[in-house]
Amino acid sequence: MSTDTKYVMAIDQGTTSSRAIIFDKQGNIVSTGQLEHQQIFPRAGWVEHDPLEIWLNVRKVVAEAEASSEVNARDIAAVGITNQRETTVVWDRTTGKPVYNAIVWQDTRTQALVEEFAGDAGTDRYKDRVGLPLASYFAGPKVTWILDNVEGAREAAERGDLLMGTTDSWLVWNMTGGVDGGVHVTDVTNASRTMLMNLETLDWNPEICADMRIPMSMLPEIRSSSEVYGKGRTRGFLKDVPISGILGDQQAAMFGQACFEKGMGKNTYGTGSFVLMNVGTEVVHSQNGLLSTVCYKIGDQDAVYALEGSIAVTGSLVQWLRDNLGIISSAPEVEPLAASVEDNGGAYFVPAFSGLFAPHWRPDARGALVGLTRYVSKAHIARAALEATAYQSREVVDAMNADAGVDITELKVDGGMTANELLMQFQADQIGVPVIRPRVTETTALGAAYAAGIAVGFWSGTDEVTANWSEDTRWEPAMADDRREKLYRNWQKAVTKSLDWVDEDVD
Ligand code: ADP
Repeated sequence: MSTDTKYVMAIDQGTTSSRAIIFDKQGNIVSTGQLEHQQIFPRAGWVEHDPLEIWLNVRKVVAEAEASSEVNARDIAAVGITNQRETTVVWDRTTGKPVYNAIVWQDTRTQALVEEFAGDAGTDRYKDRVGLPLASYFAGPKVTWILDNVEGAREAAERGDLLMGTTDSWLVWNMTGGVDGGVHVTDVTNASRTMLMNLETLDWNPEICADMRIPMSMLPEIRSSSEVYGKGRTRGFLKDVPISGILGDQQAAMFGQACFEKGMGKNTYGTGSFVLMNVGTEVVHSQNGLLSTVCYKIGDQDAVYALEGSIAVTGSLVQWLRDNLGIISSAPEVEPLAASVEDNGGAYFVPAFSGLFAPHWRPDARGALVGLTRYVSKAHIARAALEATAYQSREVVDAMNADAGVDITELKVDGGMTANELLMQFQADQIGVPVIRPRVTETTALGAAYAAGIAVGFWSGTDEVTANWSEDTRWEPAMADDRREKLYRNWQKAVTKSLDWVDEDVD
């Protein structure tokens, strides 16, 4: 590493946008570039992104971050990538073109395939090996769908012409040369969301690939989360900068929140919300509807595992209030609207738009807004929408406490929704422990930067990450117990109303 490199860049390829953030040695943000990409909804339940738009946006946001800080590639010691997990791209290695749009993690089109794979063995068929129940959420079946439905795709895959990957793989392949020698890799955290990787041995499982009809020649090489995978080779774009960190977005947030010890956890509130707890170097299987997943692996050190509660819809419910109902014109407006009333007015909103994820795993659920009376106003609905995020988070925190056998003592939080004070206070009230937001809330990007920087010696190791972390705001629980429990009981009742909706009459 040259001595004049002062910065590390993170590329955060998220569900709604791509960001590039330049960090200094203390983990402070120096500059940012950000662009949203199109959300494509071809049918109910289908969600797609255009991978070429994402790659173009990434190049633009990197240029924006560099231009607005006058930092250029020569000043950057390393670049780390973090990404929306599970969202799957299949592309042709000979042309560099995707054969289909990226199928996004929330997309439910693979439900029939998932049921086929489950067969008589049920949705937990592969759980002992991959840590996950069969669900439309994960990447593997999305590849099967593309191979089954895109003309010529299966033949091309069997010829060895097609590659698959989550958006980390898609970006690294393009950044390192694309058709001209692009490196085809992913990291253990992203691989752990495909349903195709053995959680203990961190290699691809040939039997599951065969069951899912996925040629293994399509799969990226599985690497650690912190090592040099290659260097930028695209002209004028991060040329010669080592690409040396990859972490799925939620695992990156764990890293950026310095959750390096067993028992440490966080909740990230973005499009969906994801509670993870570090469980150490042995896989822990959940008895309460949580996922077992890889948390991170630094170089050739042992992998560290996590338990995860994934919630599909939280921030995207606020987007839905904005885009589909039009009762707010921007996401932050939900807070004053919700605060204009004292409570939810009896309304509960279960946003089971893609079924319910953890801890229920009910694909047959759909959204339900219940408890309505003539009294309920749009302000109550705004409040119910925010409360839904807190109740769903409580469900997974309770599951985690049950699995761990001890209760968490505080919850570190990050993500776009943590700007919402009303929500954060209600969250503390519901889980009954303090909610803590760090000084740098871009923990996802920060985690990817740390993973990349550690690989090239820019940071010495995780101790430096811990030293850089600091608390900004803390919300203490303040609600009386009887009220807290009454609200939660009503929420649980509302959840039962959302179940059993999808049947042969619902497309
Ligand atoms: P992602 O990384 O998943 O794209 P972010 O962490 O950028 O998500 O968070 C964006 C989400 O947060 C959006 O779904 C948006 O609706 C929500 N959001 C942003 N600001 C607020 C706010 N003040 N109150 C409630 N929700 C918000």
